[in-house]
Amino acid sequence: MNENLERGPIVIVGSGPGGLCAAIGAAQGGADVILLEKQAHTGGMLHIANGELSGAGTKRQRERGIDDDPVRHYDDVVRISHGRINHELAWMSVSRQGETVDWLDENHFDFDPTCPALAHGHEIYSIPRTYWGQDHAISILRILKKQLSLLVEAGRVRIWLHSDVRELLTDENGRVRGVRVSRDGKLEEEVAASVVILATGGYDANPELRNQFLPENCASTLIGCLNHATGDGLLMARKLGAAVSSDGIFLPVMGMIPDWSRPGHAVDYNDAFIELAPAYRLPREIWVNQNGKRFVREDTPNPELRERALIQQPDVTCHVIFDQKAIDTSTVPLIRNPSGTWTQERFVAACKTSPWITRAATLAELAEELVIDPAALIETVSEYNRAVDTGVDKDFGRLILPDRIETGPFYAMTSVATSVLSRDGVLVDTDLAVVDQEGRSIPGLYAVGEVLGNNVFAGDNFVGGMSITPAMTLGRLLGSKLAVALNPVQ
Ligand SMILES: Cc1cc2nc3c(=O)[nH]c(=O)nc-3n(C[C@H](O)[C@H](O)[C@H](O)COP(=O)(O)OP(=O)(O)OC[C@H]3O[C@@H](n4cnc5c(N)ncnc54)[C@H](O)[C@@H]3O)c2cc1C
Repeated sequence: MNENLERGPIVIVGSGPGGLCAAIGAAQGGADVILLEKQAHTGGMLHIANGELSGAGTKRQRERGIDDDPVRHYDDVVRISHGRINHELAWMSVSRQGETVDWLDENHFDFDPTCPALAHGHEIYSIPRTYWGQDHAISILRILKKQLSLLVEAGRVRIWLHSDVRELLTDENGRVRGVRVSRDGKLEEEVAASVVILATGGYDANPELRNQFLPENCASTLIGCLNHATGDGLLMARKLGAAVSSDGIFLPVMGMIPDWSRPGHAVDYNDAFIELAPAYRLPREIWVNQNGKRFVREDTPNPELRERALIQQPDVTCHVIFDQKAIDTSTVPLIRNPSGTWTQERFVAACKTSPWITRAATLAELAEELVIDPAALIETVSEYNRAVDTGVDKDFGRLILPDRIETGPFYAMTSVATSVLSRDGVLVDTDLAVVDQEGRSIPGLYAVGEVLGNNVFAGDNFVGGMSITPAMTLGRLLGSKLAVALNPVQ
């Protein structure tokens, strides 16, 4: 920390993994912390996230004979992100992420017994170093809440719920001195701070702001995150002249289902999504776009390939087309959720009743329901059936060609590209101090977590665990460094 801090509370805005860990780090370091959260509860996106973490050189890896270290983790992050990360910040996090996993371990984290594992939802690491709890991200939240409650009891942390921060307050020198907050939806009040940490998460639930960063053709992308992600921290910092990245990078999650009761949103990921990874389910279907055409090999083991192909399709929409035989012969349900409550029996029943699944006696009728040209869909299915017969998919090189699609009734599940993570965010230096357009730090203002934009840690791809783990790791680091700067050992 290169600034002289005056005494006073550290005000942290937002209580997701970034804010909670910053509060824990700061309070354990002896600082007085006020944690402001606009919702009725702490936890942020941990309430729905899959909760995958990554870290190398952990106790749990050693116990299982897995040889790993942060350098190899970092090399994998660079490979998967195509080198488009912020190298200094990514290394700062990756080199400490094993410690974060060990810290959870020391605090009795209920690891899923299969961890550390290779997780196939995104491009896989070269070594098993992904971890999650038995209750996914809720397992993380449980530990963080417990740690925080000890600090609340010790009088080091005050948590203000229903406290919506609206503005950053500065003094005559432009130094951030506090925040203006609306508590319980009532009159706004000022809260003075020695420093303010923005841990407000991303902007993906704010379509207007999100579409400023997304490529033009991706405007129909669904919202797959919780409503709190409205980009408040980014907007408040930008008002003070903070620099914001604009990398033009976007990669959606594929497989999420439109929620017909909430236009523009996806069905909650915890309830259901379409499992597309061949490591978990071999495809018995084809994927077609709104023109009735296939656009990628459905058995690709490369998630990035299918995600990039999807954003080139009209309305970033994909219909998963299958027939009765695919249902009858599959043992693995097409729909899944993290808690594993979708069995094949439940899926078979859902095919008859679910509003997410379109059914029709013939392919032509199915196409009409989907507002696709029937002749185009019939031709695509015929082509695919020829590939099954010959064993050669000349268009896309698909290798898994189990059965012709010909036994009615026919079915479609529609999936639309979904954003779950904000790619851009406020720029910070290696102290995590927010910087202006000239790269100068804005005194008194720091940021951690998804408000930085996930590009910092994942470049133009998804990298396993590289959002929650950096938020936690750098949150704790930032909190403890600020505590030292505020209370230097005499
Ligand atoms: C479906 C889904 C699955 C995911 N799975 C994974 C995964 O497996 N692994 C992974 O690494 N990442 C995953 N992520 C991403 C990850 O959950 C987030 O990137 C991470 O939670 C960000 O942490 P954060 O603390 O920065 O923000 P958040 O968790 O979003 O928390 C921000 C908090 O700030 C509060 N806040 C915002 N504005 C204000 C304001 N003005 N005043 C007061 N409070 C405010 C919010 O209410 C919220 O509580 C997933 C995301 C989704 C949506």
